[in-house]
Amino acid sequence: MPVTKRTPIPVSEAVKSIMSRTCVWETEEVPITECDNRILANHLIASHDVPPFDRSPYDGFAVHSEDTLDASENSPIKLQVIETIGAGQVAANKLSSGNAIRIMTGAKIPEGADAVIMLELVKEIDVDGKSFIQIKRTLKPNDNISFKGEDTKEGTVLAKAGTVITPGMIAVLATFGHHTVSVFKKPVVGILSTGTELLDVNEPLQPGKIRNSNAYMVAAQVKAMGAAVKLYQHREDNFDSLYENVSECLADSDIVITTGGVSVGDYDYLPAIYEKLGAEVLFNKIAMRPGSVTTVAVHQGKWLFGLSGNPSACFVGCELFVRPVILSGMKVKKPHCQILKAELGADFPKPNPFTRFVRAVLTEGINMNSVTPAGLDKSGSVSSLLAANSLIVLPGGTRGWEKGSEVGVLTWNGEGSEWPWDSPLFSKSSAIKTAEKQP
Ligand code: AMP
Ligand code: MG
Repeated sequence: MPVTKRTPIPVSEAVKSIMSRTCVWETEEVPITECDNRILANHLIASHDVPPFDRSPYDGFAVHSEDTLDASENSPIKLQVIETIGAGQVAANKLSSGNAIRIMTGAKIPEGADAVIMLELVKEIDVDGKSFIQIKRTLKPNDNISFKGEDTKEGTVLAKAGTVITPGMIAVLATFGHHTVSVFKKPVVGILSTGTELLDVNEPLQPGKIRNSNAYMVAAQVKAMGAAVKLYQHREDNFDSLYENVSECLADSDIVITTGGVSVGDYDYLPAIYEKLGAEVLFNKIAMRPGSVTTVAVHQGKWLFGLSGNPSACFVGCELFVRPVILSGMKVKKPHCQILKAELGADFPKPNPFTRFVRAVLTEGINMNSVTPAGLDKSGSVSSLLAANSLIVLPGGTRGWEKGSEVGVLTWNGEGSEWPWDSPLFSKSSAIKTAEKQP
């Protein structure tokens, strides 16, 4: 097979071309008990005031504030207690001057009352079998009342579609009576590893063979992004059967991720498979390391991500390109890895023709974050993924970086970024400046 020349495009261009094609996933109703960590599909709007009625914030007595005008330490006033109401009960009587109603936290303020005095601040007395309270202080109208709508006014937009559902949001959903919640359906991601050298995770090693690690790694990555996973049996490098496998995978999934076989080697069949499918290839070469051969294509409304077989390249490709497709399809506002600024904790002397993504350990600091490469920086290395919580992004066109340089870092653990790729941290100019300082 002739080796076709591929023209590398910048990472930002690759991501941009993906973002111009993103679609919105379907929605579904799930029981409120199962909506945690899902993504809200409709705005959450207050359908009534909260609280829905004026209520008591304390255990105490509902009174007419005017009755307490002359109350003082030396001359307490006396009110007759005519009724007791607990939370959930409504007073049977209208409160008239000279009377008080014993009221518990959360109970509706009785008609006629305009203030509440706490239980601890009154003296309860019994006169001829009747209950009275003595009050030694004056109360103003509205003292100690939680007003209807003081928490939330009817019609307020409390959360937008695309927001992740937290326990706090579940409290609000329940407050407004959402026993089911409209969330985005999890897109189904089919994962198919290719490579004649691959063994299943439970197989003993054989000469020339390695275990398939990518499939499990990618499955965990996309699950963390909110997708559903369909894991396929790994396959040998054979054009005809792989074509069938990819077609089957496409029929059953919204997104197909293949790992391996996307380069220009003798047994790299994915490019020819895209061609036979008639898929539209958005790009097949990116000016990045690792993962320059990462290929993304669309076909009949579905996505095909051809990730490199190298574990680290595969990991990076998934975070950079698959993440925004999954998340923007759920209207998440910050669908990309989060960008942070950090100080490089070690020299990175490798020349850098392409943008380099270095698996790294990021330590967040009060004044400055620090970041250090994690283990062996080879795209085939799997061990460096173990400790990595971030990727240092070193823009292309430099001879290397010194310890102490300010660098951009991407992390998949944070709240995400809207569009990190316009950051000056990723621009070449800052890289060259640092490189010039080197001997
Ligand atoms: P490829 O992208 O097919 O050229 O593979 C690049 C390198 O990644 C080769 O050393 C493969 O053996 C290795 N590799 C491919 N697929 C996997 C996989 N699923 N798990 C671990 N390593 C893999
Ligand atoms: Mg291969």
